[in-house]
Amino acid sequence: MGLTEYRRKRRFDVTPEPAGKTKTRGRARAPIFVVQKHRASALHYDFRLEWKGVLLSWAVPKGPSLDPSVKRLAMQTEDHPIEYAGFEGIIPEGEYGGGTVMVWDTGTWEPETPDVDAGLRKGELKFALQGKKLTGSWVLVRTRGRPGARSDRPAWLLIKHRDGSASSEDLATTQPRSVVTRRLLAEIAWQEGGNVEKAAGADPPAEIRKLIANPKLVRRRRGGRKPAVWHSGRAVR
Ligand code: MN
Repeated sequence: MGLTEYRRKRRFDVTPEPAGKTKTRGRARAPIFVVQKHRASALHYDFRLEWKGVLLSWAVPKGPSLDPSVKRLAMQTEDHPIEYAGFEGIIPEGEYGGGTVMVWDTGTWEPETPDVDAGLRKGELKFALQGKKLTGSWVLVRTRGRPGARSDRPAWLLIKHRDGSASSEDLATTQPRSVVTRRLLAEIAWQEGGNVEKAAGADPPAEIRKLIANPKLVRRRRGGRKPAVWHSGRAVR
């Protein structure tokens, strides 16, 4: 735990990602979660839960599913700084995770496992999400096997519990945009100097066709803000 591995993998004079503060804040507010859609060498959704001053992180190749019968592989990755929850933009090609990042969902979470640290050690964490896209109860379960010999990362499964927010809706298709800027991945890449073709390949084709048919629909960048880094303001203070 901690940010040592996160910092070791990144060059903060090259990438716009945050280095993270060493000092953490008090616990007067509900912990946040964020899901970042990330078109790096492959598309995945980074699922992050705030816990003890960092964002616990999992890379979910197919993204969360609202269908309780679907188990989504979630590879645990290094803890990220809390400020990362507001990061939307471009990681330079050639850098760790190079590609386009979107804040796909964000909100707060609460544990439904009484002892979170024990649950993480044991490999079963139940929790409820209160996001803009994802709500209701979920579980992360660590699996015994490691899916690939190349990977030394613990593999978990992200599964929706059966409750009122379970659904067969495919959110990746029906709600593909940033919850912060309403942009598609291609629009983020276009406006912030990323690889537009690569990013567009991870957006729903129907959405890209609409933009090509009517380029005036392309989201205008907000004025006066620092490029490449967007803070939602709501979730991150
Ligand atoms: Mn990632």
